[in-house]
Amino acid sequence: MRQPFSFFTILLLVVVPFTAFSQQSPAPDLDSITEDAYRRMLERQRLEAEALTYPIFTAPTYDPNIEVYTVETVPSPRGPGLRGSIVDPTGLIDSGAQQRINERLYALEQKSSVEVAVVLLPSIGQDIPKSFAVALFEKWGIGKADTDNGLLILTVMDQRRTEFEVGYGLEGILTDVVCYRIGTNEIVPRFRQGDYAGGIEQAVLRITSFLERPEAIDDVYGYGVLHEAPAFAWQWYHLLLVLYGLICLVMGFWYFGQAFAIQRSKDDYYDKYLRLYQLKFGCTDMLFPLPMLFFARMTKKRLDHYRYAPRFSKKNGQPMTLLSNYDEIDFLEEVQLLEEELKSVLYDVWMTEDQSDVMILEYEGPNGRDYTSCRQCGYQTFGKRTSLVVVSATYDHAGTRIDTYECRNCNYQEEKEITLPRKVRSSSASSSSSSSFSSSSSSSSSSSSFGGGSSGGGGAGVSW
Ligand SMILES: [Zn+2]
Repeated sequence: MRQPFSFFTILLLVVVPFTAFSQQSPAPDLDSITEDAYRRMLERQRLEAEALTYPIFTAPTYDPNIEVYTVETVPSPRGPGLRGSIVDPTGLIDSGAQQRINERLYALEQKSSVEVAVVLLPSIGQDIPKSFAVALFEKWGIGKADTDNGLLILTVMDQRRTEFEVGYGLEGILTDVVCYRIGTNEIVPRFRQGDYAGGIEQAVLRITSFLERPEAIDDVYGYGVLHEAPAFAWQWYHLLLVLYGLICLVMGFWYFGQAFAIQRSKDDYYDKYLRLYQLKFGCTDMLFPLPMLFFARMTKKRLDHYRYAPRFSKKNGQPMTLLSNYDEIDFLEEVQLLEEELKSVLYDVWMTEDQSDVMILEYEGPNGRDYTSCRQCGYQTFGKRTSLVVVSATYDHAGTRIDTYECRNCNYQEEKEITLPRKVRSSSASSSSSSSFSSSSSSSSSSSSFGGGSSGGGGAGVSW
């Protein structure tokens, strides 16, 4: 997955070339360090292993007439009178190495109950080594049944192929990558030189040290190869995101709590409406649009419910009905109708059937923020009428704009003088030159930043 340019990437881009140029002494050889640690570990394990007493290992007898083996004809290394881990009908591994490998695997089995079989066959005909390994693994039942902790290392000589077949219980430790690494690092170079005993022995050493000490995974990963891309690396912006998420969560809980409290309160619908409306237009939805978007629908539904739910007269308990916009005209003052027209305030008129009770409720309209209460008449009809620039701002002096506010009801007027900031030459100079700069750079940067950004990417691009 591609990560966006992060602070660390940029830091790396700066630091790496710097250190590359400034470094006087050669970099310490990481390979040799891990190799040293590996040798010390082997030595320690050898000393541990010496404390064990080994049984006498007995290999199966092989039928010299068999040149092409099937799963059925491969003799098992375990059985009556047999003790060992190696099946090597053509004698590719000398007896000394066989003894050491058997001891190593015996020690492993005593310690961890992990069972390993090493099989080297001259040929399996046209069979696929992988399928053959699976079948052989199943037939022999390598590994303890409850933990499935078996491993089969199958080498097919004529196909020049070595398969590592891992039981489910070991897959977590002996991953495909680890097996592949061990194969390429230990088996391949030695087998190519005909050193089959050495290849198998080193592979077994690697694997056993691995299984006995899973932390050693890092050693092998680090041995001459790079890690696979790490699944996830924490960056500062991840922490910010988590923090933001937590705050959103807290906001959400708070919001739900408030909404719930409003719902439960003894207030009448109108007061509930106003309280929830205040909540909706708190500053929170500016800072946290994400959770607020989530709640917006719920809030809208609640508000509608509070506004349109059936009401009863407080005077006589009779049910009230909401008048239509047309019918309510008779009950509203002219200036209230003006407010409705300006959409600064909306009025709902509720009435009992016998007209014994009329209730007028006011709500903020969609243009409620554009109009304020008039100082003179008190209605929400006072809003901006004109905006006139009297003196334009220049590089030498600030400008002036006069905003005229007028009450649409009583025509009361106010003027506000707004000072326009003086233009700044440097910013305008850069903006004029940047238009050519950015246009040239934006057209070329798309190619130069791709080609140059990933130094290999430029070459890769050309090869296409
Ligand atoms: Zn007025």
